Amino acid sequence: MADIALPEVKLNLYNVKSPIQVKVVENRIVTKESSPNIVRHLVFDVSGTQLEGNVIAGQSVGVLTPGEDQNGKPHKLRLYSMASPSRGEGGQSHLISTTVKRTIEEIDGKLYTGVASNYLCDLQPGDPVLLTGPSGRRFLLPEDANAYQYLFFATGTGVAPFRGMIQDLDLSKTSATLAFGCAYRTDVLYADEFDPLARDQASFHFLKAISREDRRADGSKAYVHTLLEDAPEAVRKQVAAKNTLIYICGLKGMEWGIYKTLLQQGHSSYFDPKNDEGVAWLKSVASGAAKITEEDFKTYVKPGPRLFEEVY
Ligand code: FAD
Repeated sequence: MADIALPEVKLNLYNVKSPIQVKVVENRIVTKESSPNIVRHLVFDVSGTQLEGNVIAGQSVGVLTPGEDQNGKPHKLRLYSMASPSRGEGGQSHLISTTVKRTIEEIDGKLYTGVASNYLCDLQPGDPVLLTGPSGRRFLLPEDANAYQYLFFATGTGVAPFRGMIQDLDLSKTSATLAFGCAYRTDVLYADEFDPLARDQASFHFLKAISREDRRADGSKAYVHTLLEDAPEAVRKQVAAKNTLIYICGLKGMEWGIYKTLLQQGHSSYFDPKNDEGVAWLKSVASGAAKITEEDFKTYVKPGPRLFEEVY
């Protein structure tokens, strides 16, 4: 396949030394009331700033939390993916949105709350917030987006960029699958948007793997990568199609299960060998002779041009 042309994007119109102050216009919870997790959808009004019209789906903005860390230094920048489409939240170019999970941890009986995520989740409409960005130049839809098909894999807030990308696509011209993984059914994000879309558009599939609740036919747990094994025929055809691009976003480590399953299913064209040994390894994987280990994978191959990944 010829190189996939990505759009030219604006980068770092604002940085840590010269951030831009914008206002929160909406902050709503998107996990169900009974969920042990809290994820919120935040919308910022960026009117009159250079962010207006210049942050596209797949890019992120940086958030500067007021105050200092335990060393007396300003809090470091944290990145948050845009959840809005490139034309802006609800088609309004002055609005951009993101999806934030409150990070909370208890270690040896002591509670640690993440700095930026809790700051963001506490903000009220009308509150100011300092942003930088945009950032990100590869995790984007191609320039000729409707010439490709899409398989989007998300865990948790990793769904944010796909919400925007799916709204950017013309589903009458192309097809897309969103494979979403989370622990509990109460944590399926934006199901109120994706479920009706999947019902109304034959070209869109929404697959869910609820790891602590769903069981597969053999009784094993469902994860985002097992959705590939259990995929309906239409999605299997999509994975095999030469013009399909795979995007992965969410928890670090999620990519390996997807890569392994793709290789097991014979889709080695998503990977590029690093050297001659890599070519040989891919051949022996195809013939079933090689055991697919993460170590060998890292030694011999890398994601090819049809794979896009943003994990954190
Ligand atoms: P931090 O303060 O950085 O803490 C991190 C974790 O450590 C927390 O769980 C906290 O409870 C724990 N902790 C804090 N102090 C201690 C301590 N002393 N000892 C032990 N544990 C401690 N996140 C999203 O929610 N949505 C997004 O769309 C999103 N997009 C991203 C895009 C990119 C490209 C990248 C790189 C990251 C993205 N992230 C996103 C992650 C985000 O940037 C933050 O890393 C995340 O929100 C946690 O930041 P925090 O400041 O809240 O937590």
